[in-house]
Amino acid sequence: MSIAANISRLEAQLDQHHCKLIAVSKTKPPETIMEAYSGGFRRFGENRAQELVDKQQQLPTDIEWHMIGHLQRNKVKYLAPFVSMIHGVDNLKLLREINKQAEKAQRVIPCLLQVHIAQEESKFGFKLEELPELLKSAVFEGLEHVQILGLMGMATFTNDRQQIQGEFRNLKNLFNKLDGMDSPPNFQMKELSMGMSNDFEIALEEGSTMVRIGSRIFGARN
Ligand SMILES: *Cc1c(COP(=O)(O)O)cnc(C)c1O
Repeated sequence: MSIAANISRLEAQLDQHHCKLIAVSKTKPPETIMEAYSGGFRRFGENRAQELVDKQQQLPTDIEWHMIGHLQRNKVKYLAPFVSMIHGVDNLKLLREINKQAEKAQRVIPCLLQVHIAQEESKFGFKLEELPELLKSAVFEGLEHVQILGLMGMATFTNDRQQIQGEFRNLKNLFNKLDGMDSPPNFQMKELSMGMSNDFEIALEEGSTMVRIGSRIFGARN
């Protein structure tokens, strides 16, 4: 199957759940991205800042670029002028730096807060219990150049379906809880970014609004 065909098949499946597709193009060359672009697709995700900037410079300007990986504070300035959404905001210092660089770029940058839902030690993110406390303590107020639009999470890499389902469900419950709390105008629960090639079908059942899919579209990475 061609890349464009993979995308249309996935989009047909996602549409039924009102879920958006982020095509994860990391490690893939610009020509490969152009195959998807030529089929009409515009929303791509990368997990390294440098690679994202390089590709943005080489490819058409109407592409929506999503930063989905761990982002270091010193890289934010390179993305701030153009990035469509930053999914992996996993600490407040990073959020403040995004706010600062967005102000310089005269923009408001849509962000998702990454939450640690997996059992694995290595995954980044806020703790599930932590965010309601942070929201109550007003730390998000006054950051006028970021728009927090929801949450992002990655489930444990496992074949245990129930475990993955439980982790996504925890994230969705947190999403609902935050949605029901008083919050400043720059904090809204609209998007839930969860699900990758191996687990997106479970994520759809659990209420995902954005799935980040790479290998199911572009084939395995080296
Ligand atoms: C690589 C990556 C994906 C996509 O992974 P696939 O298994 O290829 O679909 C999704 N989210 C993040 C954060 C990634 O780094």
